[in-house]
Amino acid sequence: MKPSKQFAAYLEARKSSEVLYGDIQKHVLAKAFKPSGRRTDCMHPSAMVKSDWCHRAQYFELLDPPARPATTFNRENVFEMGHAIHRKWQGWLQEMGRLGGEWRCRNCKHQWWYEATPLLCPACASYVIEYDEVTLNADPLMIGGHTDGWCPEDNCLIEIKSMGLGSLRFEDPKFLRRFEVHTEGRGISWDLDRMWKQFNRPLPAAYRQGQLYLYIARHFEDLDVDRITFLYEFKATQESKAFTVLYDEDVSEPLITAAKAIADAIRDRSLPAPACNIDPENGCRKCRTMTATAA
Ligand SMILES: [Zn+2]
Ligand SMILES: [Zn+2]
Repeated sequence: MKPSKQFAAYLEARKSSEVLYGDIQKHVLAKAFKPSGRRTDCMHPSAMVKSDWCHRAQYFELLDPPARPATTFNRENVFEMGHAIHRKWQGWLQEMGRLGGEWRCRNCKHQWWYEATPLLCPACASYVIEYDEVTLNADPLMIGGHTDGWCPEDNCLIEIKSMGLGSLRFEDPKFLRRFEVHTEGRGISWDLDRMWKQFNRPLPAAYRQGQLYLYIARHFEDLDVDRITFLYEFKATQESKAFTVLYDEDVSEPLITAAKAIADAIRDRSLPAPACNIDPENGCRKCRTMTATAA
């Protein structure tokens, strides 16, 4: 039997002649094998805002959730760095007393919602409390997600993004391609310095994601917010930039309409599966194969 991609990465890690380094890679990949806790029974805003989000493929994915994609040590390393950058900015906002949302006590594991920054755990009075972000659910639309932060005094949601070659490769390869440098005989490199200097607004998918979060926060979570601040950190130099975007309901309307049609078809199977919005004639790369397996 051919080993899965995931298992192949694991075997590759075992081959490293650097014993400790190889053991770290094995440890990280073994952790990645465990269930992620990411819900498979709802649509995720991060997927919905991509330019290739197919309504039909989403419908089949909800009916029959796909297996978790294979990962590599490098990929896990990129994600972990992203998480560390999130924790850093959230930690500063917490120190400033400007953060609200879900909180967790590291001592007694108590979890609670608080519309400001708590100083101690209400259950055990421990000071060791950590931020658990803000869940944004729109159950009637089957959308589930969470935003990186909420600053109640500023009527503001927070989205933290780290930018580097690794994260852009996963998140926005199209944008990255604009900064490719082709050198005769030496292949392709990327002018990330130029990318960072010219970077003056959130990337389009991030902008749509922020608007969708605001829509859900206002309509389904009853949060008094009218803007979202994007905090971007450039991994190469640790320089940062911020962009604040005001709420614009119109941006999310097409996504809300699509989500409603998909959710309706999931709940009432006598309705036909939604059509492909990417290639209505032939179906797109994603939904063509899925239709065949689910039918
Ligand atoms: Zn506690
Ligand atoms: Zn499609």
